[in-house]
Amino acid sequence: MGKCTVNKVWFEKTDSLGYKISEWAKEVDKTQIFCIVCSNNIQCEKKGHQALLQHSINDKHKNNCKKFNESTTIMSSGNLELGVYCKQEDASKAELMWTMKSVLCNMSGSSCDGLVELFKAMFPNAVPDKFSLSRSKMSNLITDALGPHFRQIVLDGIQNHSTYYTLMYDETTNSESKKELQVAVRYWCNTKKEIVGGPSDGEDYSVIQTEKGIPSHRFIKHCSSHWLTLGAAAERILEQWEALMHYFKIFVPKHRNEILRTPKFLKISSFIKLVELKPEIIFVVNSAKMFQQFTLTFQRQEPLIHVMYD
Ligand SMILES: [Zn+2]
Repeated sequence: MGKCTVNKVWFEKTDSLGYKISEWAKEVDKTQIFCIVCSNNIQCEKKGHQALLQHSINDKHKNNCKKFNESTTIMSSGNLELGVYCKQEDASKAELMWTMKSVLCNMSGSSCDGLVELFKAMFPNAVPDKFSLSRSKMSNLITDALGPHFRQIVLDGIQNHSTYYTLMYDETTNSESKKELQVAVRYWCNTKKEIVGGPSDGEDYSVIQTEKGIPSHRFIKHCSSHWLTLGAAAERILEQWEALMHYFKIFVPKHRNEILRTPKFLKISSFIKLVELKPEIIFVVNSAKMFQQFTLTFQRQEPLIHVMYD
């Protein structure tokens, strides 16, 4: 079988949605093409040009195209005061796109350290001169530009169509141990013709807990400087095992496409594939019990040297 190599002519063709292929595809190397809207690589070695056409008709790609178009319209709509100069606009557009990508993929603020240099090395002469991004700039873009913009879209959606909506709220303790009130609004979106504003991960999980008859406990965070949390955290995982497996192996792949490719999800799913994971957790629970009398002794404030001497 002959191997196909990427041909410049392919990019001039039109896909089934009527887009010129060069609008969404970029050559990576001789056998791979990068899809800008899905941000993944398409292998063309076996099927050549056909692989691109096939990619262009899959649902994920179509959805991404829709989202991509929406986000670029938002950014060029002028709402965000992108500036009068074309060059500035290009830079702001790139900064906003990267910020939205970071939010969607749960990337940390530090992921933009050295980004400008990296992009300049990756795409010589293609990075707008004024493009710059730092943690603080990114967080300002989220809170001062994107946040208000998307909140307005939600408010308009609810108010303009005098539609019914559901308000859901849940009090929780966040990762910084601060109390947090999470609010979600679900409503019928007239433009999208669907219900928007889905339930949060926490709610999905508690439905599974109820279905499986598993206590609706929260997870215990193990703190590496505090021996005593290890056993309790591991024990809670065992208690929740069935619900956890269901959530990560069945529920998320089926219903939560948007988190499937996040680093956190990938990390968790690579762990739960390991056959030795459960035995290891059981081992931790049992050995934590064994060591607890010692760990309890050594967590005391009083001097312990005489105890050790005995
Ligand atoms: Zn694609």
